[in-house]
Amino acid sequence: MRQEVSAGVILFYRGSAREYLVLDYGSHWDYPKGHLKAGETSRNAALRELQEETGIAGIRLLPGFEERIRYTYRKAGTAVWKRVVYYLGESLTRAVALSEEHHDYAWLGYPEALNRLTYPSARQLLRKAERFLSAAPRPETPPGDPLSTLPRF
Ligand code: ATP
Repeated sequence: MRQEVSAGVILFYRGSAREYLVLDYGSHWDYPKGHLKAGETSRNAALRELQEETGIAGIRLLPGFEERIRYTYRKAGTAVWKRVVYYLGESLTRAVALSEEHHDYAWLGYPEALNRLTYPSARQLLRKAERFLSAAPRPETPPGDPLSTLPRF
């Protein structure tokens, strides 16, 4: 069976409410992601694919969030066994320059993004991301630091 490994970013923007970026792949809605190149780390691949697909660069990946999903699909009659690792990133912009491989994009609040994502595994990732962001203090402020009273994500 053929194997593929990809990496992606669950990207959020902190406006008046938290919004997540989802992309229209034509057949389904999903996060920015793509195949690892030879010798590339999954973090670098995730950041590179994000930039290629959306034009968004210079984002911060949140330490402590790394989630894997797997699925199989058929490509030209051959079964493909696919693994995708996802990181969580904060964007400081909502401006997207969409690549031609996508049809559309949307910044959506949590419930809307949950509805828009096509696959259950992608929705499960969003639940984990939302839980992570709601629970964690800002990672750059260690516990006990007076700055940790700053607003949460
Ligand atoms: P990549 O974006 O990693 O470069 P790709 O665009 O070649 O990959 P996928 O996005 O993995 O390929 O899509 C290949 C097939 O798998 C499509 O038919 C798609 O609908 C399906 N697929 C995508 N994500 C999932 C998922 N989370 N669960 C099940 N099937 C999925």
